[in-house]
Amino acid sequence: MHTLPLKPARFAALPNTFYSTIKPEPLNNPYWIAVNETLLEQFGMPSEHFQTASNLAYLSGSAAEYSPQPIATVYSGHQFGGYTPRLGDGRALLLGETLDGAGNAWEWQLKGAGKTPYSRFADGRAVLRSSVREYLCSEAVHGLNIPTTRALALAGSNDEVYRETVETAAVVTRIAPSFIRFGHFEYFFYTGREAELKTLADFVIDHYYPECRQAGNPYLALLHEVGRRTAETVAAWQSVGFCHGVMNTDNMSILGLTIDYGPFGFMEAYDRRHVCNHSDHEGRYAYHAQPYIAHWNLAALANCFETLVSEDEVNAFLEQWPETFQTAYLEKMRPKLGLLTEQKDDAELVADMFAALQDKKVDFTLFFRRLAQVSNAHDDPLPSELTALFGGNSPQLFVRWAGRYRQRLRAENNRHAERTVRMNQVNPLYVLRNYLAQQAIELAQRGDCREIERLRRCLENPFEARKEFADFAEPAPEWAEGIAVSCSS
Ligand code: AMP
Ligand code: MG
Repeated sequence: MHTLPLKPARFAALPNTFYSTIKPEPLNNPYWIAVNETLLEQFGMPSEHFQTASNLAYLSGSAAEYSPQPIATVYSGHQFGGYTPRLGDGRALLLGETLDGAGNAWEWQLKGAGKTPYSRFADGRAVLRSSVREYLCSEAVHGLNIPTTRALALAGSNDEVYRETVETAAVVTRIAPSFIRFGHFEYFFYTGREAELKTLADFVIDHYYPECRQAGNPYLALLHEVGRRTAETVAAWQSVGFCHGVMNTDNMSILGLTIDYGPFGFMEAYDRRHVCNHSDHEGRYAYHAQPYIAHWNLAALANCFETLVSEDEVNAFLEQWPETFQTAYLEKMRPKLGLLTEQKDDAELVADMFAALQDKKVDFTLFFRRLAQVSNAHDDPLPSELTALFGGNSPQLFVRWAGRYRQRLRAENNRHAERTVRMNQVNPLYVLRNYLAQQAIELAQRGDCREIERLRRCLENPFEARKEFADFAEPAPEWAEGIAVSCSS
């Protein structure tokens, strides 16, 4: 018998129009690819108790019996701007939920454990490559203190899965307080089921936003809270150069979590137009577009609230959101620059800094680490490690900007040594660069999964420089520049 502390998910107590019950499809001869010991500790589960054959069978979809009964939920969503009336968990199953040491409930999902009624034309599977990416990136994003779904374990098998080439199957166990998406609301709205829509809104308020009950209109309060959390998460993405890749409304969490890791990427050479998903030909989800798309997606969500919130209130919410975002964004950016005060030209200072990086192939992550070394005095030379990031020529635009930056630092009596420490606490040295994930994937494909854990351990604390992880701080070598990341996963 498995020893996983699973109780029926509260979501499963909703009417059966919200989901279908599922029997997972087993993998042949499953094996552990990775087990997240750090996260297991949070549930008081020592990894040796967790890593049993029965638990492996359970978390790879291969157990004979599943209790509680797994479910797949129904949703819809706007994909690349167009509405798809029915999507749903096509390869995800909700196993149940569990309480952590602090008493918080976490839902457990298997991703890749076979077909569901929502699989449409696809196979219900996930490949090792994309599963390793999801496993590592959810933990990397958590390490950056950005809200996200988490990855608890990863099981693999030699079963073949057909994508652009033949690959092997894997199943991620991912956990989150809730996997509800904007698309869940859209499904009930566009099928005209007002009662279910309200039931869903009440469920979300009661379990995740109880403070909204105190408001005059709890549903309006919910919209504002979802808007605020979405703003904070997307602002955090912008601040570390994270590109989600597929910001469809079905990939937007009602809790503002980063969810559904597919063709994501951490930007290396700064380019505001950077598109990480090679299938996104029009650049709809480019780095600089992410806040606009978040706004667009919130408008799609708010549209579903028409029977719960007045039109004027929806409009006021949407009009206010860009400012909510900008506030969240500057709250992330000021500490990245080590600033101590708020000034009215902060937005300009930040925008001009990025303009100086544009088209210079400056490494996003290393730039902020090295900016921390800039002294306050206007006539000190800029650190050569920093200017080297701009390539051969003297970066004139940046040098001019640095003059303004230093002036600002002096004006607010910002002490250099303390600023360096503060900046290094918020600017990561390590991010999940595509080539790092790729190296770990290729080793795992050859049967050596150790690099996945080494990388996860590093990314769990991305701010602290450690000698044993020096290789992970390096920008992509030339061989890696052509790595393409597509939707195929
Ligand atoms: P995505 O935008 O990649 O998160 O997925 C869009 C929709 O396609 C969701 O409903 C997924 O569950 C579904 N989907 C993606 N890949 C598969 C697959 N291999 N098998 C079944 N459904 C899938
Ligand atoms: Mg999705």
